[in-house]
Amino acid sequence: MENKSILLVNDDGYFSEGILTLYEVLKKHFSTVKVVAPDRNLSGAGHSLTFTKPLRIREVDRDIYTVIEGTPADCVHLGVGVIFGGKKPDIVVSGINQGPNLGEDITYSGTVAGAMEGCILGIPSIAVSLFAREDFRFVDASLVTLDLVNRVLQKGLKANTYLNVNIPNIPYGEMKAYAVTRQGHRIYKETVIRYRDPYGQPIYWIAATEFNWSAEPWTDYWAILQGFVSITPLDLDLTNPIVKRGVAIFGE
Ligand code: MN
Repeated sequence: MENKSILLVNDDGYFSEGILTLYEVLKKHFSTVKVVAPDRNLSGAGHSLTFTKPLRIREVDRDIYTVIEGTPADCVHLGVGVIFGGKKPDIVVSGINQGPNLGEDITYSGTVAGAMEGCILGIPSIAVSLFAREDFRFVDASLVTLDLVNRVLQKGLKANTYLNVNIPNIPYGEMKAYAVTRQGHRIYKETVIRYRDPYGQPIYWIAATEFNWSAEPWTDYWAILQGFVSITPLDLDLTNPIVKRGVAIFGE
């Protein structure tokens, strides 16, 4: 049992199989593992933080806490400041998300935002997502995450860098190496679904009805298709790198 402390967060809610399976695996190896997660599915919440109302924390079970109406970023904030008493955990792990976070999904993802918040607070942080729609292999993905957590705890991460990890939904033994990738691109389809309510009024549901990203080499999606575990290092600095090279921003 290693004397390390881990804060687990997600955007699917404290009750989701992905975070609870990971919790069970990690607590066998590390002295302190605490879940601080939303009380509902907040997938798509992004990096929102609650400024306009007070928040409450509820202890659901031993070492499992939920922030009532809190976002993933709220959970990391209160996790560090309250549950860990202001002492930074050794690592923040966000996930395991039920579904991938690839390409521009990163900007909507509460899973990625959980790791981003950890990074802002100066804690090595990783976001972990499982590439599947059903029959989720969370135990296999938890073993991959355990290995990554060990590597990060041993070697740390570069400053301002956090990791977006996507894991293929295959047995642990069949996974290939880690591939360090770049963020890919989603190929957008119609995502507004139109219905009528029982009174005949139009209602709309925003939903990604199918998985589709471009598969250029060394992108996150490409790596997943090859059976690699995709690791995209993200930077808190969102500046477009072409500006750093002195190229005019208004085009030709
Ligand atoms: Mn989610």
